[in-house]
Amino acid sequence: MILQTPRGTKDILPEDQRYFKFIQEAVERQAGINGYEKIETPIFEYQSLFTKAIGEDSDIVEKEMYEVKRLGEERSDEKEKLILRPEYTAGVVRAYIEHGMKAWPQPVQLYYFGPVFRYNRPQKGRLREFWQFGFELLGADDPATDARIISLAYSLCKSLHLADCVILVNSIGCRSCRPNLKAALKDFFSKKKAVLCEDCKRRLEANPFRILDCKNKTCQKLTSQAPPLVDQLCLKCKDHFKQVLEFLDEAEIPYDLEPTLVRGLDYYTKTCFEVVLKSDLTRQNSLGGGGRYDELIKLYGGPNTPATGMAFGVERMVDALKKQKVQIKEAKKPQIFIAQLGEKAKKKAVNLLDLLQGEGIPARAALAKSGLRSQLKMANTLDAAITVIIGQREVVDGTAIIRDMKEGVQEVVEQEEILDRIKRKLGLK
Ligand code: AMP
Repeated sequence: MILQTPRGTKDILPEDQRYFKFIQEAVERQAGINGYEKIETPIFEYQSLFTKAIGEDSDIVEKEMYEVKRLGEERSDEKEKLILRPEYTAGVVRAYIEHGMKAWPQPVQLYYFGPVFRYNRPQKGRLREFWQFGFELLGADDPATDARIISLAYSLCKSLHLADCVILVNSIGCRSCRPNLKAALKDFFSKKKAVLCEDCKRRLEANPFRILDCKNKTCQKLTSQAPPLVDQLCLKCKDHFKQVLEFLDEAEIPYDLEPTLVRGLDYYTKTCFEVVLKSDLTRQNSLGGGGRYDELIKLYGGPNTPATGMAFGVERMVDALKKQKVQIKEAKKPQIFIAQLGEKAKKKAVNLLDLLQGEGIPARAALAKSGLRSQLKMANTLDAAITVIIGQREVVDGTAIIRDMKEGVQEVVEQEEILDRIKRKLGLK
């Protein structure tokens, strides 16, 4: 038996849950004020959903997808292989088509928050199971909506006090200008073929856009000299991108133009962006990214529906929050600790726990402990505001001792008055 989390996965312990909660609350707040509703899609879906959208020759499809099988399964009753989702957008788009969301008021605005799975070589900031949250806006092609999504990313970072964020933007064109972009890249990289990594030599023919996203240092260096993609855009895409930037300027959203920015997934068109930290500008460690995907819904056989969206990695955000020493204030309710001495007192203590918890007052006890000293020690460790002590004498007298842990004073109270007294002390009455 291996008593360890599998490689590339980790437990999210209470200490990190605070950060997750902080992020999730900010996401929910932004979703609420921007009119996004929550969607959850299955953690596993049919393989073709991902291969079709993300691209056969993408890193994810080529080497990062996990297959889901029943143990010992030889023949499945499923139509296709099942895959652990490596990202959310494909599932959200499937849901848009499956549930006829085209008939809903457009654009449909959805957000999500949950785990995704990619087989990566585990290293800092690169996990095999990680959490993503994201926003999808389906059914609008106006450049203003691209700017709104980017502005949402900016507001989120701001509300998380991640002051160190930079938004990189670019446009990768549409179906009609993509061949020109591809040709320009092919022309540029063909001349440098000898120094490209083996993967990129292959990509040069199949999909030179992928070279721009290569993790190899030499390829990255070459990429920084590659021709700007915007120079090859068709007039429509150029105008679309110009308007996106104008809307960003209008909203005073700071951004940097990144002329060779592309995304690792095939389904993107026109605007794409990535959010990185100033302290770590390498796109390999981006906090999030997104862009427009006007072709995806049609590609799945759905109605022609332009769309845009973004996804952030939660663990990367947690790391950034820790690195930037962002203080997370937790509005913790004061807690009551109940100490008991003897079997009868334990029963009273359990009743009191129920009573307090029933009133929504956080309360704990250490029912497996019997000594007062160890119980008081625990109350201190838990930073309890009040400790209620019920000993044998208190059981006989029908009383309890209420100890104010901060003041260090205590008083004897009739049992039926305990709740009232505690509420007064907590300022709930
Ligand atoms: P992507 O879906 O590849 O555009 O990734 C969106 C975001 O998810 C990235 O900006 C990261 O924050 C996060 N992310 C992607 N891959 C990983 C990974 N292997 N481990 C942790 N976070 C990741």
